[in-house]
Amino acid sequence: MTETLPQPRTAVAADTSEPGASSAGLLVFAPLRLEASAVRRGLRAPASRVRRTGMGATRAAKSVRDSNPGPFGAMIVMGTAAGVSPDLRPGDLVVATEVSDGSSTVTLPGADLLAAELRRAGLPARAGKLATVPMLVRSSQRAKLAAQGFLAADMETAALLGAAEADRPRAVIRAISDSGVGPGMVTGGLAALRALRLAAPVAERWAAACAERTVLLAGPRSFCAGVERAIEIVERALELRGAPVYVRKQIVHNTRVVSDLEQRGAIFVDELDEVPDGATVVFSAHGVSPAVRDAASGRGLSVIDATCPLVSKVHAEARRFAKEGYTVALIGHAGHEEVEGTLGEAPEATVLVQTVDDVAALSPADPSKVAYLMQTTLAVDEAADVSAALRERFPKMRAPGSDDICYATTNRQAAVRAVAEDADLVLVAGSKNSSNSVRLVERSQRAGTPAYLIDGAADIDVSWLSGVSVVGLTAGASAPPAVVSEIIDALSGLGSVTVTERVTTTESVQFGLPREVRR
Ligand code: SF4
Repeated sequence: MTETLPQPRTAVAADTSEPGASSAGLLVFAPLRLEASAVRRGLRAPASRVRRTGMGATRAAKSVRDSNPGPFGAMIVMGTAAGVSPDLRPGDLVVATEVSDGSSTVTLPGADLLAAELRRAGLPARAGKLATVPMLVRSSQRAKLAAQGFLAADMETAALLGAAEADRPRAVIRAISDSGVGPGMVTGGLAALRALRLAAPVAERWAAACAERTVLLAGPRSFCAGVERAIEIVERALELRGAPVYVRKQIVHNTRVVSDLEQRGAIFVDELDEVPDGATVVFSAHGVSPAVRDAASGRGLSVIDATCPLVSKVHAEARRFAKEGYTVALIGHAGHEEVEGTLGEAPEATVLVQTVDDVAALSPADPSKVAYLMQTTLAVDEAADVSAALRERFPKMRAPGSDDICYATTNRQAAVRAVAEDADLVLVAGSKNSSNSVRLVERSQRAGTPAYLIDGAADIDVSWLSGVSVVGLTAGASAPPAVVSEIIDALSGLGSVTVTERVTTTESVQFGLPREVRR
């Protein structure tokens, strides 16, 4: 099923001669001669140009209106600014997320992406709000603007954005020359000009990534029922028992989810000995071994179990096969928390098998009594290769009652495959320690499409996007849906984006909550 979602931004695409390519280079508006000269010295591409606009809103806007800039692909305002946030220093770069002159505000999607690219180039850059003010900012004004959330202030950007063509990808990079503290005007000004020169090639890379694009959104993607349940368990525990609530290991493998819950009062620990006596501890969605349960019970901790029911099912199978005298070959990845938990159910009877080569090394006590189980988040095709090798060696091998690789893993892998086939590049939202997210990257790569795992838009390296007109986008089962929206928004800062969702199946699985957090 294919469904077209509303476009996140209706801007007309940049002047491109072919999809996925920025045709006419970068145009930089720089108010002052010294600023224009610093930027010019940093530019490399022949198609890049700098236009000096003059100081102050009126002069800058007139200069833009009166000039004919000719064809260009993307536009950046670059210059110096006064820092109003107290933690900024001369030479720091501010990439504007929005620019306001008090009467109107322009929002610039994708600022995080450009700021991250500057940081990757070794430059101190932050994304945030920029104020355009009528006169040089005075010390008394700094605190007032900072309290309104502005990072920096200048005298031209709002006017320049207002006068320039709004249907192009636009960005603003301002270098702090004066922060109200630290070095004086001359030293601060030199630091700012140097930063502008060094930022110029990064601006060119950003411009080269600007283009009209299609985003092919894989469906299903993002949270599965087990992850939603685990997060809700911690939220309810915080609500019902108050902070802090301890969580053994990351509740799900996602840095955003973990940091959000941390801010709300959850404390994540690696082992139970970090949990104070009498405290509440939540076991993560990946499950724990009986030894951990026993240790918690021995300590008198109040346990709430957020183990996904589909992981618990694998644990039950391990216990059952071991009880019946079988050697259990557990197909999975060494060191993964879920695997540690499953191995702990029947440690004397279970052997971890990671590859086809591991199958040859197996030496069960009774070759006629071998069973296999799987980690829930494996790559479907790779796990099938290992289980086929096991079956060949142990023809009477017992299998789990139903697939161990869970519905969410299977569905997300099928969905990413469907978009990878038609995409130039696949972005997978998810954290590096998320097994199912890593498998989505590998699945796309096996389909012949370059793929990258990103925690958020700031992880996108703009060089990946050069020449790319169709971006496949998905999210692992532990990645929040909001990250997908954030990535689409960031891409829309590089040119207009058409989002098409390709749904391979729909999901309706829901799991009940443990009694400790039921209301
Ligand atoms: S990925 Fe599968 S096993 Fe893991 S939490 Fe989600 S539904 Fe449960």
